[in-house]
Amino acid sequence: MDLSTPVTQFPGVGPARAEKLEKLGLRTAGDLIAAYPRGYEDRRAVYTVRDAPLGEKVCIRAMAAGHPRLSRVRRGMELVQLRAVDATGALHVTFFNQSYMERALSAGEEYIFFGAVEEQGRRRTMANPIVEQAGRQEHTGRIMPVYRLTAGISNHLLASLTRLALEGCAHLLPETLPRAVREAYGLARTESAHRSIHFPDSPEALDQARRRLSFEELFYLSVGLDRLKSRRSAGRQGAAVPARPPDQFAALLPFPLTGAQRRTMEEIARDLSSGKTMNRLVQGDVGSGKTMAAAYAVWLAALAGWQCALMAPTEVLARQHFATLSPLMARAGIETVLLTGSLTAAEKRSARERLALGGAVLAVGTHALLSQGVEFARLGLVVTDEQHRFGVGQRSALAAKAEAGSAPPPHVLVMSATPIPRTLALIIYGDLDVSVIDQLPPGRTPVETYVVGEDKRQRMYNFVRRLAGEGRQAYIICPAVEEGDGEAWAGAPDLKAVKVYARQLQEQVFPDLRVDFLHGKMRPREKERVMAAFAGGESDVLVSTTVIEVGVDVPNAALIIIENAERFGLSQLHQLRGRVGRGTHRSYCVLMAAGRGETARQRLRTLARTRDGFAIAEEDLKLRGPGDFFGRRQHGLPALRAADLAGDMRVLQQARQAAREVLEQDPELERPENRAVRDRVRQMFSETPDIFN
Ligand code: ADP
Ligand code: MG
Repeated sequence: MDLSTPVTQFPGVGPARAEKLEKLGLRTAGDLIAAYPRGYEDRRAVYTVRDAPLGEKVCIRAMAAGHPRLSRVRRGMELVQLRAVDATGALHVTFFNQSYMERALSAGEEYIFFGAVEEQGRRRTMANPIVEQAGRQEHTGRIMPVYRLTAGISNHLLASLTRLALEGCAHLLPETLPRAVREAYGLARTESAHRSIHFPDSPEALDQARRRLSFEELFYLSVGLDRLKSRRSAGRQGAAVPARPPDQFAALLPFPLTGAQRRTMEEIARDLSSGKTMNRLVQGDVGSGKTMAAAYAVWLAALAGWQCALMAPTEVLARQHFATLSPLMARAGIETVLLTGSLTAAEKRSARERLALGGAVLAVGTHALLSQGVEFARLGLVVTDEQHRFGVGQRSALAAKAEAGSAPPPHVLVMSATPIPRTLALIIYGDLDVSVIDQLPPGRTPVETYVVGEDKRQRMYNFVRRLAGEGRQAYIICPAVEEGDGEAWAGAPDLKAVKVYARQLQEQVFPDLRVDFLHGKMRPREKERVMAAFAGGESDVLVSTTVIEVGVDVPNAALIIIENAERFGLSQLHQLRGRVGRGTHRSYCVLMAAGRGETARQRLRTLARTRDGFAIAEEDLKLRGPGDFFGRRQHGLPALRAADLAGDMRVLQQARQAAREVLEQDPELERPENRAVRDRVRQMFSETPDIFN
């Protein structure tokens, strides 16, 4: 057997099972070994019949006191009963619909029974245990792996197959971590790590295995990201952009810059004028004024004769950026065009022409900017907003696309409004330099935040009316779009659906106010119309899904109500809250919590207590894990199998350090001991084929 031996050559695996295994991505012995368990069940403790704790799964070693009895209880239900004894008492074991157990067990033999002991009167019983002959155990008396399963594939089967695979070829697993790294960081060898991640002898052995395997993933990831970073900066000539003082730019604005904005702008100017390509992330809490930092970069590049592209994740946001930037840039004599999917063919053509000819200097748009047919005469800067929505892969694709036509490669500026916990930031943005805007423009009053239940609904509506009377506007956010919209609705009938809810509010609650609605399934033009109307004060209440989550800016909106708030992540709620408090008006956020779940309310109160987006993000990461943090797989990282991003900070730091040490001595990983690392990194970053020379 070797790592590529197909599962069909394993005993008990025919075509039908092979197909089911394929669903789990398991085609070969190597796949089995690479599919780490999702959890473990400790089956080590062995008890006597009398001492066994009730209700929890344990092993009992006992002897079959007689031959098992098979009986038919009723049609379709067979029962096998066995009395097992040890020195302390008797255990009544029953098996339902496993008539083969009658033949499998023989009187006088000693067995291990693994299951939960119950007490019926004075009788101790165990139903449907796992049974193995004492001394010949495979699935009991040890820590057992728990695998991800699919219909027709039992954990038992997977454990057996994996054990066979390990016995057959664990010794063939290539050792990919250089020996020097293994020794310096005290890491287990690959073979023993793989054995122990599946069948650990002890919790300590499991820790060792886990550490080694997550280290290795984070190490390859760090090597790859370091390469991306140095590949972009080292010796790469950036578009030449002379620095100009931020205050000269600020003269175009109606407000003075904050200190944090000025500092960030200085960092940007330094990058742009360094002669190398800029790769910078601007992180800042909602409302901190990141757009102006980007505008400054555009202004600098444009004055130096370069074209710029600004890419937003949604149409609404792209249009808003266009609305803000185009008059601002016009004041400096810079022409801006909008390029999104919803423009008419003629509009697109005209925008593309002006870009290709170089008349238009700034293009604002969605990822439509990346589509074929969009060409720039001399692209010098690419800005992406809310970048966490794009992944590492997309980011390098974007850079590649931008680089393809133009020499020198354009500068890259990334803005993210989601304060990202440090662990994640190190990984997701490991290839970027970072500026943090950690200061809000003055005059902002903090948003007052309340967690309330159904009983306060009427009061809340009265509050909306009062604010509207003062000339303010309100958002009401709902999780679902339409009644009957998918499972979300079916499972939670009290979810407020946008359309239905908006109509109901208009007709029954606020006949005197103007209620409008917005959701992701509307046509872009419709969305645009609704947003523009709200921004222009033509509607008082905007009922919306989270399409308004990122970046939308209406300073007159002073209240945001979030229905079914318990369904959102804290970071997302914080983002939503950032839609208000953007003007000088006192602003409010009301989190409606359906149901009585006290833990859910506790969680929401975190938000009422703190305004620090970073602290909230950390809390969110702790509570929900990285998968949920950005929505599944949205972080765009290569899938990590062993590393736990929320918990492995120390391992991550060591892995990054190791990566730097190795790359320092052998940047292209050409030495024999580093070749395997190079192959792994290439695999992981397959979207960036030229990651090494
Ligand atoms: P975000 O960082 O969330 O993208 P924006 O760039 O949208 O924030 O800015 C939020 C609001 O603050 C906008 O209305 C913008 O015009 C305003 N703003 C930006 N910088 C300043 C400043 N220095 N002083 C006052 N208002 C500012
Ligand atoms: Mg923004």
